[in-house]
Amino acid sequence: MGKGFFNVPIAVNEPVKSYAPGTPERDAVLDAYKVMFNSKVDVPLYINGEDVPTGNTRTMSPPHDHQHVVGTYHLAEQKHIEDAIITALEARKSWSQMPWEQRAGIFLKAAELIAGPYRAKINAATMIAQSKTIHQAEIDAACELIDFLRFNVQFMADIYMEQPESTSDAWNRVEYRPLEGFTYAVTPFNFTAIAGNLPAAPAMMGNTIVWKPSDAQVFSARVIVEIFKEAGLPDGVINMITGDPVMVTDKVLSSPDFAGLHFTGSTFVFKSLWKQIGSNIETYKTYPRIVGETGGKDFIIAHPSAQAKQVATAIIRGAFEFQGQKCSAASRVYLPQSKAEEILGYVKADIETIGEPGSPEDMSRFVTAVIHEGAFDKLAAVIDRARSDSNAEIFAGGGYDKSKGYFIEPTVIVTTDPKYTTMETELFGPIVTVYIYQDEDWTNTLKLVDETSEYALTGAVFSED
Ligand code: NAD
Repeated sequence: MGKGFFNVPIAVNEPVKSYAPGTPERDAVLDAYKVMFNSKVDVPLYINGEDVPTGNTRTMSPPHDHQHVVGTYHLAEQKHIEDAIITALEARKSWSQMPWEQRAGIFLKAAELIAGPYRAKINAATMIAQSKTIHQAEIDAACELIDFLRFNVQFMADIYMEQPESTSDAWNRVEYRPLEGFTYAVTPFNFTAIAGNLPAAPAMMGNTIVWKPSDAQVFSARVIVEIFKEAGLPDGVINMITGDPVMVTDKVLSSPDFAGLHFTGSTFVFKSLWKQIGSNIETYKTYPRIVGETGGKDFIIAHPSAQAKQVATAIIRGAFEFQGQKCSAASRVYLPQSKAEEILGYVKADIETIGEPGSPEDMSRFVTAVIHEGAFDKLAAVIDRARSDSNAEIFAGGGYDKSKGYFIEPTVIVTTDPKYTTMETELFGPIVTVYIYQDEDWTNTLKLVDETSEYALTGAVFSED
């Protein structure tokens, strides 16, 4: 037990580096990119601090150069998942008893490693695995993951400080125990930071974890494993399993010791996991805690008083950064008739300056490839359909090509139907749909925004009024 009340370091957002020409960070990340791109890494499962190869492998390729192989990863079988669960339960015995400030120290050390010696590597891995530009990699894999780790230590201390009142004859105290079992972390492809945070946050609180990253992110997930190991995370606290998502999940969720799900990904998958947990409820020793963050159909609405240029910039950055593959990416836009032409004019002019999608190694690129062939084919079909539908037109972009990488041009669809399919459905790509409303219909249009999609997640209102 610690002998003292410990103040945790005050968390401050990690400053974002510029990567401007001539800066040391630019040279460092390009060097790391070259080394990683031109070598091959093998990523086994990671159980109890050991690499566990299974022999059943899949190759990994950058989405912007899909014929180029950067390594292989291994697929788990049932017995590996059992091993990971047993390991997590065993590790829980000592980890859950470790003084909280020592657990916190390990994650603060991990943040320092990312801020310093691992920064170029984790950014380069994210550029290769997820085709992020350096700016998108930096705000995600470096800065957001560092922030998650440092701020969560602070939040952890805040939670522990939350104590009940006492009376003159009774001293009330609360201890915050970890869950009685193991936690299953399931992470999406699009943020390296989320991949690190979903296992780390519950682990910080004394839980032990079976972590399943997305198949499309294994290359950068491996760097997270290396960092946690170097930071001193004891063996068995976070175990990484890769493999068929349905098989892995079925096995994990059938364990009586399953105690918590920490998920980020699509709405459909989260609902299916929730259902599965519900139907297995008789199996579990406790009531599992379920935490999930899911899809977005994010809107921008401009009032007739809005400034055209601001709205156009919001559309360009909101819809096309990281090829629109963010839960918070703008994907449906409502413009007033009186300003639409001016706003769309700026949008078109900006798109012309963006240039073709390409490799993130070329740091002048603003857009690169979408994550895999499945995403590419789905988005290309959406563009084809908009081309032939009478209530939609391709206003800008619309080109696609998967001969080298999964490249889709930033695309603007203008529709006359506010419930057109791309106004309603999350596409997760560089496609934004615009509906033009009559200025006097402002109030009804706000209702329309609310009623159009099953969910929103984020939204932006531009107005000077
Ligand atoms: P996804 O739902 O396809 O996959 C997420 C995870 O679930 C992956 O690890 C995947 O392997 C696993 N998975 C997929 N199908 C499964 C199944 N049938 N059973 C068990 N596990 C399964 O999502 P994605 O494509 O990796 O990520 C994009 C989605 O994530 C988008 O919908 C986006 O909006 C959402 N997202 C939300 C947030 C947020 O904070 N709200 C942040 C990032 C991403």
